[in-house]
Amino acid sequence: MKLAMIGFGQAGGKIVDKFLEYDKETGSGIVRSAVAVNTAKADLLGLEHIPEENRVLIGQARVKGHGVGADNELGAEIAEEDIDEVQGAIDNIPVHEVDAFLIVAGLGGGTGSGGSPVVAKHLKRIYTEPVYGLGVLPGSDEGGIYTLNAARSFQTFVREVDNLMVFDNDAWRQTGESVEGGYDHINEEIVRRFGVLFGAGEIEAGDNVAESVVDSSEIINTLDGGGVSTVGYASEDVEVSSGGGGLLSRFKGDDSSDDSMDTANTTNRITSLVRKAALGRLTLPCEIEGAERALLVMAGPPEHLNRKGIERGRKWLEEQTGSMEVRGGDYPTNAPKVAASILLAGVHNVPRIKELQQVAIEAQDNIDDIRNQSEDNLEDLVEDDEDELDPLF
Ligand code: GDP
Repeated sequence: MKLAMIGFGQAGGKIVDKFLEYDKETGSGIVRSAVAVNTAKADLLGLEHIPEENRVLIGQARVKGHGVGADNELGAEIAEEDIDEVQGAIDNIPVHEVDAFLIVAGLGGGTGSGGSPVVAKHLKRIYTEPVYGLGVLPGSDEGGIYTLNAARSFQTFVREVDNLMVFDNDAWRQTGESVEGGYDHINEEIVRRFGVLFGAGEIEAGDNVAESVVDSSEIINTLDGGGVSTVGYASEDVEVSSGGGGLLSRFKGDDSSDDSMDTANTTNRITSLVRKAALGRLTLPCEIEGAERALLVMAGPPEHLNRKGIERGRKWLEEQTGSMEVRGGDYPTNAPKVAASILLAGVHNVPRIKELQQVAIEAQDNIDDIRNQSEDNLEDLVEDDEDELDPLF
């Protein structure tokens, strides 16, 4: 699937930069164009792979290249005011060659948190291609204001995109490691998971590729219908055989005598990877029961994939989610591992979002209280008790 990616704010820019690196390393061909938008000049300068002409500095008149300081209302205002500059960069994208837009942002900050929903709304008005979001939730140790920003942005962003895929930094912190210190490792995880998923739709059905290969329309149909999505992933190293002859027959699921053992192993490996992917850590942890739609992508060397395994995995996902809309297919690669990537779309039972909203409401109440008392408190401090002093003017 070919995407036009827009990285908004620091996290968004860094993650899109990583997608480009992944694309170059794996040849997956998922990033047709990449644009970075920011109010902070230094963040744009720090990017490595996004071409300089595709880096857009907005809000120069307001914040002079210094960022919005985690003020997402200001982030949204600036995006609105400077939408023409963002559009100027998007004008360079050959939109007829892309399957969808993907706007990536950390929802806890200011620029990406406020600006992403504004740009999503704008793109949806102009283009017929789907507009997806990839929103990153802050770690719970980042504090009230980041949580409040994320909760407000989440609400708005979901409404403006065709689907919001979510990654929760909090669930991905390694023990003993601050989120800050772990961003590199976290960003690699994000790119691996979404890279396999979107890369699947880029394989052309060729001679040694069966018809069960995932098509980009299957990704689009899974995301279609809106809401919130999460991705599960599990992989296992395998040996890649260099031979040619037997591969095709095994891939096609022929149960010819010497291969039947291999076929059984392959099938078992696939079904256990599917379980691990769905029941292990998701990008946004949630209950998979009740997910409205799902897509299973099995990636790996063709001789380690078979239709029976994928079919069983798909059936198991139908049972677990209770949804009949579970698609599945393979993504043949040369990598020495077999990976299951599962997109669960339209998830509803997400305790983390409810917890985020609760903390956000507390933070908002606290901010309101302090603001309301601020004038009285300052007067108490500045005025002398008996009002004997006069100001200068
Ligand atoms: P902005 O530049 O104002 O949009 O804000 P940032 O992108 O710097 O930060 C927003 C949020 O994104 C933070 O609260 C973090 O939770 C998260 N974040 C920042 N940098 C990264 C990163 O490189 N990777 C990930 N996964 N999250 C990040």
